[in-house]
Amino acid sequence: MSVVLVAEDEPRIASFVAKGLRSAGFTPLVCGDGATALDHALTGDVALVVLDIGLPVLDGFEVLRRLRERGSTVPVVVLTARGSVDDTVAGLEGGADDYMAKPFRFEELLARIRLRLRESRPESGATSLRAGDVELDLRTRRLSVAGEGRDLSAREFGLAETFLRHPGQVLTREQLLSRVWGYDFDPGSNVVDVYVGYLRRKLGPGRLATVRGMGYRLDPQG
Ligand code: CA
Repeated sequence: MSVVLVAEDEPRIASFVAKGLRSAGFTPLVCGDGATALDHALTGDVALVVLDIGLPVLDGFEVLRRLRERGSTVPVVVLTARGSVDDTVAGLEGGADDYMAKPFRFEELLARIRLRLRESRPESGATSLRAGDVELDLRTRRLSVAGEGRDLSAREFGLAETFLRHPGQVLTREQLLSRVWGYDFDPGSNVVDVYVGYLRRKLGPGRLATVRGMGYRLDPQG
């Protein structure tokens, strides 16, 4: 039975989420402030955290920052007011996995929770992905290129993981955006191109090709 921590100070929303989780077969653990949420999340017994941004004591951003600072990789789905989505997306660079704008339907939240839980569990015990001389360690989140280690930011890791799961295949901006950023595609956003640029520098020349008008492709070498 997977325990899902629900850090939400509005009782109505907390009980709505807890009730839905229970009927979907999860064990909800509800708390109403950021400090308690952080304590629970750090115990390691929690499979996923649903984290409200507007929390008393420590806000959601601070909880997330401290969680990642202490090396926790627990998946987090952030709840945010619809009007603060831009701020939230900026704040998520700290390492959250996804967000949900309020008000939301429970089914939408459940779909994200299931997706994140599936992704956080490496398939058949695999702890790394490899393509040619590029290897990504899914536990330490470190990239190795021709035997040389490189540190990645949370977004770079998400991108690297996506490319390494589909070596030699063209991935569109839309696919990368929805897989790594998890929100609806904004055709005006160049965030994918920017982060592909960062990752390309870490991979070294010739490994991440731009396919004009289509997207990007990882070309394994070695
Ligand atoms: Ca709140």
